[in-house]
Amino acid sequence: MHEIGVLHKAVDLAEETARENGIERISNITLEVGELSGYLPVFFEKYFPVVIENRPVFEGCQLKMIIARGEGLCLECGAMYNVAQNEGKCPKCGSRIKKILGGREFLLKEIAYE
Ligand SMILES: [Zn+2]
Repeated sequence: MHEIGVLHKAVDLAEETARENGIERISNITLEVGELSGYLPVFFEKYFPVVIENRPVFEGCQLKMIIARGEGLCLECGAMYNVAQNEGKCPKCGSRIKKILGGREFLLKEIAYE
């Protein structure tokens, strides 16, 4: 599962940020996961408790996720559509030629602390 690797990186980054800012306990972190990023949110939920284990700064920390929609622009007819929902095919004209406008991102969006 490649989710665990990127989750580790996000948690490391959150921990580093907390240390640099003198934050003792992070209450929740928010990840932004694009529909077209190739990562499945269910795995982040599953691995999060494992990744934060033995890291006191994350004690009781909640994981939140924002799912960014996978938007595509059809280069044949100009329609905008949700790529994931339409399986990469324009619902208006059936073309697969498109420009991806969003939904590929994976980022650590927010760190909340008390
Ligand atoms: Zn189209």
